[in-house]
Amino acid sequence: MGIDQNSIIAQFPILKQQINKFPLVYFDNAATTQKPQCVIESLTDYYSNFNSNIHRGVHHLSQKATEAYEQVRAQIKDFIHANSSNEIVFTKGTTDSINLLAFSIGETFIEEGDEIIVSELEHHSNIVPWQMLCQRKKAHLRVIPVNDEGDLLIDEYRKLLNKRTRLVAVGHVSNALGTVNPIKEIIDLAHQNNSFVLIDGAQAVAHLAVDVKALDCDFYAFSGHKMYGPMGIGVLYGKKHLLEQLQPYQGGGEMIASVSFEKTTYNELPYKFEAGTPNVADVLALSKAIEFIQKYGISNLAKLESEVLEYATEEFKKIKRIKIVGTAKRKAGVLSFLIEGVHPYDVGTILDQFGIAVRTGNHCAEPIMTRLGIRGTIRASFAAYNTKEEVDRLLKAIHKTIDMFG
Ligand code: PLP
Repeated sequence: MGIDQNSIIAQFPILKQQINKFPLVYFDNAATTQKPQCVIESLTDYYSNFNSNIHRGVHHLSQKATEAYEQVRAQIKDFIHANSSNEIVFTKGTTDSINLLAFSIGETFIEEGDEIIVSELEHHSNIVPWQMLCQRKKAHLRVIPVNDEGDLLIDEYRKLLNKRTRLVAVGHVSNALGTVNPIKEIIDLAHQNNSFVLIDGAQAVAHLAVDVKALDCDFYAFSGHKMYGPMGIGVLYGKKHLLEQLQPYQGGGEMIASVSFEKTTYNELPYKFEAGTPNVADVLALSKAIEFIQKYGISNLAKLESEVLEYATEEFKKIKRIKIVGTAKRKAGVLSFLIEGVHPYDVGTILDQFGIAVRTGNHCAEPIMTRLGIRGTIRASFAAYNTKEEVDRLLKAIHKTIDMFG
């Protein structure tokens, strides 16, 4: 049975507004999704009723906040099917998760001459931390190429794997083109080669069911704000036996067992990786975002999005001057395109005049743009509250744009 999309839309107060006298059409969900009322209220509730620092207080508020915070860790463990709550490290977001891992795995496992594989599709957040690590350790970055459609060339990936490959870091879903990568195959091939695998799940968690156990990935990173949750909170999942071996990323409060000037010992997992006062309010609000997703079921939400994506793709194909960028075999949530003769920035500016929010540019994925021989695209990215009627408004505005530019 389908779900009532209007009841979903009604929960997002920001969508009720008008922009430039038009009802807002928000198609910039790959950058950040909007937040349902339950997430917004959770933030006020925390600061109104039980704000306090956690883990080291005996008083009522601190205990209440600590308990709530740790419950969310268990909830996330279930959400992504991890084995243990100790495998869930709270971070500021995907970028922070990847930087943490790049530092910690680098200090623990990477030596001069080692190789790290990324792909041409990656977001800068899954490129630059590895480049920095390679510079630090005199290791080498290798890159899986893509075809013109935006699919990774798996045979080329096989050829890149060798005995120096220590880690493979690839995205689950491309933010620039929407490609859903065959990550199970990528993970299995890496493991046959004794290499670790990080999956950048920033664009996946709101669109696909993620099961880290079934995937058997070693690490998985994602951001709260791309899955209806707040900004400033994210997760790094890591297999327990690996996290246990890794050097900590930052030093400070909470991550220690004992400190003396002679010798400091580190706390147990996951606290070893959570130095300083944590972002309790956003962790609790993230919990509400997960409840929101689970209330409807991720596959039901994904179905709504893929119907909109398919509809938009078919309608865009009918417009001669539009070129869809990224036509991979399997896609989620993203339609990148160009209008012949019109600069993406101009398209974005005109669409905004009609109350339509899209993103233009290289989407923090410059290498894939370079590979495709373009500077950037216009990107419409969808969430469960987007409708075919909104796509119709986009189409109408695009026709007007084409007319304006002759
Ligand atoms: N990876 C991918 C695929 C992304 O799309 C993004 C953000 O757009 C990131 C990483 C970085 O996420 P954040 O800015 O939340 O750290």
